[in-house]
Amino acid sequence: MSESLKQTKIIATLGPASSNELVLKEMIDAGVDVIRINASHCAEPSDIQTIIDLVRSVSEEYGKPLGLFLDLQGPKIRVGTFKDKEIFLELGDLFLLTSDQSIEGDQKKVSISYPELIDDLELGQQLYIDDGNIRLEVVEKRSKDVVCRVLRGGRVSNNKGINLPMTQTRIPTLTEKDLRDLEVAVSNQLEYVAHSFISSSEDVLLLKQHIDRLGGNDIGVIAKIERKSAVDNIVSIIKVADVIMVARGDLGVEIGIENVPEAQKLIIRESIRYIKPVIVATQMLESMVEKKLATRAEVSDVANAIYDRCDAVMLSGETAMGIDPANAVAMMKTICVATDHNLSERKKNKFSQVKRVFEVKTMATSFCKAADAIADENDADVMLAFTSSGNTPLISSKLTPSIPIIAPTDSIHVLKKMQMYRGVIPIMMPQSFSEIKSWARMIDVAIRSAKSDGLLKAGDKVVVTAGFPIGIPGGTNSIRMVTVQ
Ligand code: PGA
Ligand code: MN
Repeated sequence: MSESLKQTKIIATLGPASSNELVLKEMIDAGVDVIRINASHCAEPSDIQTIIDLVRSVSEEYGKPLGLFLDLQGPKIRVGTFKDKEIFLELGDLFLLTSDQSIEGDQKKVSISYPELIDDLELGQQLYIDDGNIRLEVVEKRSKDVVCRVLRGGRVSNNKGINLPMTQTRIPTLTEKDLRDLEVAVSNQLEYVAHSFISSSEDVLLLKQHIDRLGGNDIGVIAKIERKSAVDNIVSIIKVADVIMVARGDLGVEIGIENVPEAQKLIIRESIRYIKPVIVATQMLESMVEKKLATRAEVSDVANAIYDRCDAVMLSGETAMGIDPANAVAMMKTICVATDHNLSERKKNKFSQVKRVFEVKTMATSFCKAADAIADENDADVMLAFTSSGNTPLISSKLTPSIPIIAPTDSIHVLKKMQMYRGVIPIMMPQSFSEIKSWARMIDVAIRSAKSDGLLKAGDKVVVTAGFPIGIPGGTNSIRMVTVQ
């Protein structure tokens, strides 16, 4: 394998700048692995369907099976509209938030999109508008509205978002829009659905129930950590979620931007302990919305997310509405390749340190740790991890091997899910596992196919993990080492 291997996965959000065949192809060329559809920017379910069809057809035509997920909008609370489109609040002003939707906003008052919020608010509580640019404090509660004092003034325009930092408000986390959008995700059998503003593991389980109810089969849930309560409940959330996202935009508003780096490290550390993929998101290369080159600080941020050992880094506005989406992906790839290489070099010198990190102990974790040690001690060139669920490659990936993990599977859905896993190169078995009877034959078929894809060459040392009988998920019970002929 060449030294320029990218192990960290890249997620790109589609938007006006990238929802077309040409740019999507450019982004595939530049190294994107997974596509995010942001439901907040899709007014109708049919808008989501159009984007899914586009991604699937380009991905097929271009021979790159991209992972695809829908990011549900969730209960983002917003102010209503103003008579003059915007107002300017001064420090110390009194300002009324009302549950009465018929009221048109002005200098003194505005309605809010979630009327029940009024009941939940307490005296002295702070509210942020527009990502914290405006801050209010509740000074009086009435039946239908609350009076607030302005703690930080500024411009407020129509439909700006409201955040409640540090609170446990029990607003339902799935809105009617979310449930409508979810139907599209399920009927198209996307790889994942992302759940915004969750507070606890119950929120994740509820979404899973809805997916089951709609007949969704094996659709992963991405838990977006963007509330303080979610950080407080991080371990129980990670245990039930399939993927974790450090959603730094809203998280920064809710816990304070100065606390985001530590939360990021905590969330990634716990995700490793419970063997779940983890995404770092938001403002990674923000300046590239408008510029051709990232800042040193952004490059350092992406690299440090990788040094923290995330699986995937995400682009939002950079690819959704930036001046050059493919260029942002290319910049991201350059940083990933360099940092993945540096991380491998570091690990070679102290490889045994990550071996005992898992809280989960199964036969599969034991075999993956053993395979990792065998690969290290024998200078193997590649791991070959047969899988019908994606589980074994994920465990191996969490051990941060310096060599690639080729993961043959016979399910295209599982293959696309694995696009999220760091260091995993999923490949499709030319035959289904059930048709292959022997261990030797299975290895032979996979090696031939990896060789023809240019992933292996004669002389490569391969550490193989698999389960017998073949094709039973979670049954990894065998290791072998072979040399490619
Ligand atoms: P959003 O989530 O883009 O849907 O708000 C990401 C974040 O909050 O960082
Ligand atoms: Mn968010």
